Amino acid sequence: MADSCDILVSGGGVAGLMAAATFGAAGFHVICVDPTAPVTDREDAAADLRTTAILQPARSLLEEAGIWERLAPHAAALRIMRIIDAGGAEPVARVTKDFNSADLSDQPFGWNLPNWLLRRELLARLRDLPNVEFRPGLATTGLLARTDHAFVSLNDGSRVKARLVVACDGRNSAMRAAAGINVTTRRYGQKALAFAVTHTVPHDNISTEIHRSGGPFTLVPLPDHAGQPSSAVVWMERGARAQDLQAMDVPAFEAAMNRRSCGVLGPLQLASRRSLWPIISQSAQQLNGPRLALMAEATHVVPPIGAQGLNMSLGDLRCLLDLAHATPDRLGDADMLKAYHRARHGDIQMRVKGIDLLNRTSMLAPRPLRDLRALGLNALYSMAPVRRNLMQMGLGVK
Ligand SMILES: Cc1cc2nc3c(=O)[nH]c(=O)nc-3n(C[C@H](O)[C@H](O)[C@H](O)COP(=O)(O)OP(=O)(O)OC[C@H]3O[C@@H](n4cnc5c(N)ncnc54)[C@H](O)[C@@H]3O)c2cc1C
Repeated sequence: MADSCDILVSGGGVAGLMAAATFGAAGFHVICVDPTAPVTDREDAAADLRTTAILQPARSLLEEAGIWERLAPHAAALRIMRIIDAGGAEPVARVTKDFNSADLSDQPFGWNLPNWLLRRELLARLRDLPNVEFRPGLATTGLLARTDHAFVSLNDGSRVKARLVVACDGRNSAMRAAAGINVTTRRYGQKALAFAVTHTVPHDNISTEIHRSGGPFTLVPLPDHAGQPSSAVVWMERGARAQDLQAMDVPAFEAAMNRRSCGVLGPLQLASRRSLWPIISQSAQQLNGPRLALMAEATHVVPPIGAQGLNMSLGDLRCLLDLAHATPDRLGDADMLKAYHRARHGDIQMRVKGIDLLNRTSMLAPRPLRDLRALGLNALYSMAPVRRNLMQMGLGVK
């Protein structure tokens, strides 16, 4: 006999755990499976040391799901997004532009949280929800859709019967493959180093993105660490250079990162391990299959620029939740899933293309093109309506 539920969530990464908590809080019976148990301790060698800036429009969804109240005490607010062009002969800031959240509302752009902590708090929330079962150690392997439900096969030989399957199983999604949905992928030959630093100059809730070549170097505010101001860093470089940087001893690495950061927060000191992430851009051609909705990295992967990745996933989740609420008796049927595809696909395509362009612009090595980039930043910034539009688009409210 197969276990049965309303919604089977394939994948318990940050997106999958958020989906399980959100649908669970809305009253659906949810089963969520993942082959690996989430790591919830910063000091664990397998901890995900990236951080996620949760943008302000996603907050209401997290509040409804009872997640926000757990996250708020650990979150660092992001009030200003500072973009610096340092593409001249020497790595110094030559153009600095501030995008201020106060120009839009009294709310910050968003709040930054470590991924390992997000997993810890999401698991705690799931434990409060009797209608959600999280089953680590299990992977989905097959999908058989019927008129009213789907059977999902698991790697222990069992099956789960669900009205809706939500694929949150990452960029190589097993459920996407089972439904035969194709993806378009762009590779940049680029990797991101993610780590934490402490610094002498307070960050003042400013997130700073520095462009030179190879990709952006981004400092995102964190709460103080060991009594000192602290930030999360994502440093994107061509693959070979990123690997060299990861292999360097700490003094050599600190010298390299201080040169690259242009001293904007004073001397930076490494405060964590360095983890390396491959950078690609990918989008699925369809967001829906029979009884199946793709969301998060199963449907879109973007370079980490402008905090779009997980925030697009929360946009997917908001849309699925609204559709499930509107017609609960039609959960997972073809009309609901077509409506999901129609509502999300255009926005996802636009963001994947836009971030791809920003990333390629940031990677530029030839000086004349870097000079053109600096001119472009100046020109865009000087037009107040354009500046405001860019901020609203970044937040996903336009
Ligand atoms: C360096 C870096 C920095 C980033 N910073 C930001 C940011 O500031 N803001 C932001 O919004 N986004 C950011 N992102 C993007 C964000 O981290 C991702 O969108 C998010 O972590 C991906 O989550 P996910 O749950 O979709 O995928 P994953 O984290 O890949 O999770 C997929 C899960 O599915 C599981 N799985 C795989 N196969 C199966 C199977 N067959 N059955 C069941 N489970 C399976 C895996 O074990 C895994 O746990 C960043 C990305 C990078 C690389």
